[in-house]
Amino acid sequence: MINPATEEVVATVPAADAHDIDRAVARAVAAQRSWAAAAPADRARLLRRFADVVDTHAEELARLEVREAGHLIGNARWEAENARDLLLYAAGGAERLLGRQIPVPGGWDVTFQEPLGVVGVIAPWNFPMPIAAWGSFPALAAGNAVVLKPAETTPLTALRLAGLALDAGLPEHLFQVLPGHGHIAGRALVDHPDVAKIVFTGSTTTGREVMERCARHVKPVTLELGGKSPNIVFADAELTAALDPFSFLDNSGQDCCARTRVLVQESVYEEARAFLADALAAVVVGDPADEKTRMGPLISRRQLERVRSHVPEDAPALRGSAPDGPGFWFPPTVLTGERPHSAAAREEIFGPVAVLLPFTDEEDAIRLANDTPYGLAGSLWTRDLGRALRVSRAVRIGNLSVNSHSSVRYWTPFGGFKQSGLGRELGPDALTAFTETKNVFISTEGPSQ
Ligand code: NDP
Repeated sequence: MINPATEEVVATVPAADAHDIDRAVARAVAAQRSWAAAAPADRARLLRRFADVVDTHAEELARLEVREAGHLIGNARWEAENARDLLLYAAGGAERLLGRQIPVPGGWDVTFQEPLGVVGVIAPWNFPMPIAAWGSFPALAAGNAVVLKPAETTPLTALRLAGLALDAGLPEHLFQVLPGHGHIAGRALVDHPDVAKIVFTGSTTTGREVMERCARHVKPVTLELGGKSPNIVFADAELTAALDPFSFLDNSGQDCCARTRVLVQESVYEEARAFLADALAAVVVGDPADEKTRMGPLISRRQLERVRSHVPEDAPALRGSAPDGPGFWFPPTVLTGERPHSAAAREEIFGPVAVLLPFTDEEDAIRLANDTPYGLAGSLWTRDLGRALRVSRAVRIGNLSVNSHSSVRYWTPFGGFKQSGLGRELGPDALTAFTETKNVFISTEGPSQ
């Protein structure tokens, strides 16, 4: 593992192969049986204890995330808190995962939400700790075992979480983390016949392959994939809040919810451009462990090259500054000469790069907002309530914020339309997604003839 701010080696971790995955799944199958049989209140009590242990180690987890993923220390602390809070939320869900009683003639009809068995979670490198938590903790609360494969560049916080789960008293082999390469360990997990469901977060290309492989086993899959999220700014908006550059610079833009398509009504386009030029120049880019830093490095040299390939040096743009090496640095950038159909305006760049595009009226804004293969997140800024309601319904987006740039709350559903994914994580249905509904009919009229 390489510290992306310094290029120093943080740790070396062995990579699991298909045999390791096979053994881990066999152990998980055994552990899951007694976990599923435990009373929901007992599962909830252990998960609450796990939350306490995460809380005690929150600063350690945050510092690990800074070193391995280059996250700002303040953001990394939020991520550890998010993992803790999700554990508490999921623990409550375990106690409220209820079936139903359905009136039927001739008997009683009841439903049960039964755990799936072993869930495979494949996490990316951009938010290693939260995404590991979102896929795993509701699954555990619903009575499943989890085998998690983190990204090969960022396994350390997930490994530490698995250790803390044991410290909290969770049964052995219930929550296993196996670092490894996607095309070896990731594929083995997806293909394993005893893995009942896959939760995948990452690129649309890999997500498509994962879905195809799941289809061979008719295995359910949740996909959280790419995004190219619009920030729709009408002329009547509070411009300074609407054009907050951290709506696309947070996590150095390596965020599937980043508002990288800044759509501004043409009457305020020049004002927006001038505001963003000043805002980018003021962004402090550097050491992510320093509390004053506002933007850190990209995750890897590979990602840096990928971002560079989208942004020619002579492209018309507003640019901030970034340190020279060592480390994987790219300056905050807003491309100003793009057309709505250019690659930079439509493809996920996954770096601190947005495009600024004008629109004429409400209809034009909706058309532009919907004009990508993605539909994960977006923001809409206007003081006109009727317009806010109309546009909210017209955009094909899973997580829209009106007069806000927020995207993720563990108590509300998260996921995308179109090629941004399939299914939802978090929110009130998070646990149900890790269950099968069983219907039982009990005759009250004696054995049928
Ligand atoms: P991938 O989608 O390839 O990787 C995500 C996870 O999937 C990693 O754990 C990876 O393992 C694993 N994986 C890779 N190939 C397979 C496979 N065949 N079967 C099962 N698992 C697999 O993303 P990249 O890291 O290659 O990033 C490329 C681009 O993807 C980024 O530039 C960005 O645009 C997008 N991306 C989007 C994310 C999002 O949150 N929407 C998150 C990450 C990336 P390994 O670590 O070994 O590669």
